[in-house]
Amino acid sequence: MNDGKICVSVCAATADEFNSKAREAAGLADLTELRFDCLAENEFERVEVAFDERIILTFRPKEQGGAREISLEDRHDFWNSAAEFSGADLEEDMIENAMFRGFSPKICSFHDLSGSPSNLSEIFERLASTGTDVVKIAILADDITDGIGVWKLLELAQVQNRRVIPIAMGEAGKWTRILGLAHGAFLTYASMEPGSETAPGQLTVDALREIYRVKELDRETEVYGLIGGNTSHSMSPYIHNPAFQSAGKNAVFIPLQVGNVGEFMRRMVKTGTREIDLNFRGFAVTIPHKQSVIPYLDSIDETAQAIGAVNTIKIENGKLRGYNTDAAGFIEPLIRVRGDLRGAKVAVIGAGGAARACVHALKKQGSDVMVFARDNAKATELAAEFEVESSEYPDENHRYSPIYGAFDILVNATPVGMRGRAENETPATAEQLAGLDLVYDLVYTPLRTKLMEEAEKALAGTLNGLEMLVEQAAEQQLIWTGARPETSSIHASALARLDQR
Ligand code: NAP
Repeated sequence: MNDGKICVSVCAATADEFNSKAREAAGLADLTELRFDCLAENEFERVEVAFDERIILTFRPKEQGGAREISLEDRHDFWNSAAEFSGADLEEDMIENAMFRGFSPKICSFHDLSGSPSNLSEIFERLASTGTDVVKIAILADDITDGIGVWKLLELAQVQNRRVIPIAMGEAGKWTRILGLAHGAFLTYASMEPGSETAPGQLTVDALREIYRVKELDRETEVYGLIGGNTSHSMSPYIHNPAFQSAGKNAVFIPLQVGNVGEFMRRMVKTGTREIDLNFRGFAVTIPHKQSVIPYLDSIDETAQAIGAVNTIKIENGKLRGYNTDAAGFIEPLIRVRGDLRGAKVAVIGAGGAARACVHALKKQGSDVMVFARDNAKATELAAEFEVESSEYPDENHRYSPIYGAFDILVNATPVGMRGRAENETPATAEQLAGLDLVYDLVYTPLRTKLMEEAEKALAGTLNGLEMLVEQAAEQQLIWTGARPETSSIHASALARLDQR
């Protein structure tokens, strides 16, 4: 538990929308930020809001991160006539004039929308010296470590007994928005709903409250997260946070969008070299870091070693150990529907990380595996490494189309059919699938892919990627916490999230 606040940001161009959003926001969070810079100029008169200490007024010009161009004169006029006894978020060039007015709290803010300046502590000192109640500094993070500078202001503020709002904007800075309150940030901003964000990387009030439980976090909270090149559409927080919550653990799972994995490890994770301590206890790892993360680990288990990829990391006594739960996550649902896989003839399409986990798991079960990949060299290499067969994949002109009827099971371990990425495409047609018993598509968005439709036409059984997602997440929980949650509850969390998208 901490004493930080969630502040919902309200932005609308018309007074009608502004008024209705402001009313709704009042019931959603501790504070409401009214972004008057979003309002069209001729709409001000019709604003009807109950101004009180739960409101923070903002009237920021475009060049300082606001919604529109505003003249200096208009800004002075606004602050001279604005309702007192509300809070005010004032830029550095406005704070002096507004100092004599009764705004509470008074926030003095600095925004850098292009990156992170190197002199953040200097800027902090300058803003703090105005006598403001709270200093707010928002920068833009391109990579996760760009947020370190602004995060360090929390320590500075604590030493000086001041209040600060440090924000790293962008997906790569989301961690500052989620963990800030636990480390003493005055508030964290939230959007009312998806699509109404007033700054890059802003999370919805529901996500902050119900998924990340930001007000319940403290410095003892164990922090887990997904290391990935793009974490913006990840399901993992929506699976692991409810699991931690059901287990009654003081733990949170956050997106960690990482470009340079070495720098992340050095500056934020490894004891001895890290510049800040977020109490990391483990990670899930996704594309493109499943292999590149290995050199930074102290050890990896036998399965991860055999697959050559790590999707789970546990941190114990400062040591990082890598695991791979994709193999177990893949094979368990298959065994459930097919039983014994010994001798089963399985075609695996793809030669990436997931395919490696599938081939490893199938080999262990004694299945007869053949790999198909658009890059024949990769297919041959993977097949040789795992001592299975490989075959040619159709080229772009479809001069060659494998007939999968001689197999029992086909596994799609490519992103073909995934929402937002070749959704209406399929790696095989009904004609190619005729005669197969089962098609297992690792893609889970959408739940019913084009490939599965084709499989149904070919009268083959289907298994979707959600089953694997759920199983591998349960395995991750087991590694991190020592207890394996019921897969039915993980399944429900995953479905709930998929329904929202
Ligand atoms: P990856 O390492 O990037 O490998 C992707 C593979 O798919 C590569 O062999 C790639 O070929 C091939 N591929 C990509 N686009 C293709 C296309 N248009 N046509 C034919 N082949 C194509 O990714 P990954 O980690 O293995 O993941 C693969 C899929 O499995 C993803 O959709 C992922 O979401 C899914 N997955 C699901 C779960 C789950 O829990 N359900 C877990 C892990 C992965 P190139 O090498 O030639 O690019």
